[in-house]
Amino acid sequence: ARAAAADVPAGPGALADGTPVKLLANLGKPGEAAEAVRLGAEGVGLFRTEFLFLDRLTTAPTVADQQESYREVLAAFPGKRVVVRLLDAGADKPLAFLNPGEEENPALGRRGLRALRATASVLADQLTALAAAQAQTEAELWVMAPMVATVEETAFVTRAIHDVGIRTAGVMVEIPSVALIADRVLSRTDFASIGTNDLTQYTMAADRQLGSVAALQDPWHPAVLRLVKEVGAAGAALGKPVGVCGEAAADPLLAVVLAGLGVTSLSMSPTALADVRVSLARYSLDDAAAIAEAALAADEAADARQAARAAADTIT
Ligand code: PEP
Ligand code: MG
Repeated sequence: ARAAAADVPAGPGALADGTPVKLLANLGKPGEAAEAVRLGAEGVGLFRTEFLFLDRLTTAPTVADQQESYREVLAAFPGKRVVVRLLDAGADKPLAFLNPGEEENPALGRRGLRALRATASVLADQLTALAAAQAQTEAELWVMAPMVATVEETAFVTRAIHDVGIRTAGVMVEIPSVALIADRVLSRTDFASIGTNDLTQYTMAADRQLGSVAALQDPWHPAVLRLVKEVGAAGAALGKPVGVCGEAAADPLLAVVLAGLGVTSLSMSPTALADVRVSLARYSLDDAAAIAEAALAADEAADARQAARAAADTIT
């Protein structure tokens, strides 16, 4: 059943002082786009293209198949930003046609952009399909690469994306190396999107799929927040957008902290948009920065969450 109109807050995401924080949707399938629009998404911050192809055993999807899927997502967001992620194969997202072979530690192996570079035809086909889909719609297509570790990789993929006529190219910040040199990375590309699921996994050396270390998989950890701060500061200094598209963006209080650290867009499961929108609207950018400072000063993830809560409670 459709929710009452009053249940679906409209208007762009913003802090209490009017600072915009774009509220975007994470999508895994084109069919999810309509619901995201209904729930107030201002665009798409992460379209996980690998989920279109997880059922493929050994053959890569054709350009035509891909183009149609991308066109469907883009068509739902005329005039809006749609960030598509290049195939992120490996580790938790195995794709047989990009199989790296036996690896003892697949999370540290040939995954993400590494796998794409090793299979140049798959990268070329995906970029061709994306450029063709862009030409069929009015959406503003942004394309980003997963699992980027170096400036060289950033420059390589940014050029590959621009070369097919897609104007806005970026990288995901999922590996601590690129957060630590975010200024140099952002100087070579158009935007960054922080994937806090993997960034937390790699910062804490805690497998995101392993329940026994789940307590360490907490994006509130001050070590993770410091990395986010590096990226936010680099984005502000260079005038480049910095988003967050991991699960952290869907936590209403952590969303305020992220905004306080310089993040300019938050992308999440569409069902989380309403609560995050309400939470952001309670605090100014100065408030958010103060709440973020309180979290950063903690030793542990749980303490950071509590400190942020206490700081927020003194404001509202
Ligand atoms: C992330 O790592 O935070 C992310 C958004 O990508 P995924 O969860 O698909 O790895
Ligand atoms: Mg990831």
